[in-house]
Amino acid sequence: MRIFDTTIDLKKRQFFILAIAACIGNLSGFIGNMLIYDFGMPTIFCGFCSVCVIICSLLGIFKGYILQASYFIIVLLSLLEFPMLYYMYQSGTIVYMILSIIAIATFLSGSSAFIIMGLTVICDICIIIITYYFPPDMSQITRQDMYTSTLCSLIIVMFSTFLITTLTNIQQRKQAEQLIALNEQMKEAADHDALTGIYNRRYLNKYLEKLIKTKSCEFYAVIIDLDYFKKLNDSYGHLFGDEVLVEFCNIVTKHIKDKGIVSRFGGEEFMLIFPHSNDNEIKALLTSMRKDYKAFIKSRKDVEFSFSSGVTKYEEGMTISTLYSHADKKLYYAKENNRDMDVFELV
Ligand code: GH3
Ligand code: MG
Ligand code: MG
Repeated sequence: MRIFDTTIDLKKRQFFILAIAACIGNLSGFIGNMLIYDFGMPTIFCGFCSVCVIICSLLGIFKGYILQASYFIIVLLSLLEFPMLYYMYQSGTIVYMILSIIAIATFLSGSSAFIIMGLTVICDICIIIITYYFPPDMSQITRQDMYTSTLCSLIIVMFSTFLITTLTNIQQRKQAEQLIALNEQMKEAADHDALTGIYNRRYLNKYLEKLIKTKSCEFYAVIIDLDYFKKLNDSYGHLFGDEVLVEFCNIVTKHIKDKGIVSRFGGEEFMLIFPHSNDNEIKALLTSMRKDYKAFIKSRKDVEFSFSSGVTKYEEGMTISTLYSHADKKLYYAKENNRDMDVFELV
């Protein structure tokens, strides 16, 4: 149903509700009038208002004149139809005045809502006073007519109020659900790298801060840099370079499982964190990752590309930037010594 489709502008959806409630309410009023009072002036007046409301609703929905149509429908009902109905039938139709205030508060906004509400209140009070001092000729209206009219008015107003409130509530709930989903997506995007889908540096920093706070935790930080990646890009194209980055992340993720986390540190640099690990386990992991990485490139381009890494153990009192710089020094050592190696200790 389009009124609940949250991709459609809220104002448009609100207008659908107004149009539905106004058309159903007015037509019911017109039919009720016809049944109770036949084709007298009041019925013709009600029919005229119904036609105006239907035309406005159609213009709003199909031609897009939503704002103008909303104002026209509400002003017509609040300042003309409902006061006139009260003048003609009196007490039983007073409930329409409440309905118009609900419609103004729900469908109009800003200062214009206050102005129209003020005018409606003044108009309604005036019509009640006028009716008291200059009552219309009610000689043809029987007690039975009054009773049926009151009942009809009450049912129409109750139904319209229920329709407006329920539809507006459903819309609000849908909107809230969409907002929660959007929030989740934004959180996900804020912590992840767009190309590879792994954690980004922002998340890594948060993760490390938390890890360091849990004082008893010992962990390893491994910085990995793909060797000669510029050359790989230059030789096989940037798109292939992207593909390699994605596949490299898949390989790393596959190997580290739940032993730690991997994040994209920079372009072709990655930082792996292993809480509760040891040199041998990390050595073994890096060796199998290297094997898979080389096999992947070999299978695609029949050449050999490798990576280098620097491994550092976190020691109490270290800051995050010292940890990074220790790992970086070891990586630099690997780069200076023909690459394709994992450096645990500087010699
Ligand atoms: P080294 O072995 O010394 O690390 O050499 P290198 O070529 O890997 O290092 P360098 O820093 O000279 O080049 C890194 C390259 O990584 C350059 C840059 O274009 C590429 N790169 C960074 N981010 C991306 C990316 O998202 N996609 C692709 N395809 N390439 C990237
Ligand atoms: Mg680099
Ligand atoms: Mg590199």
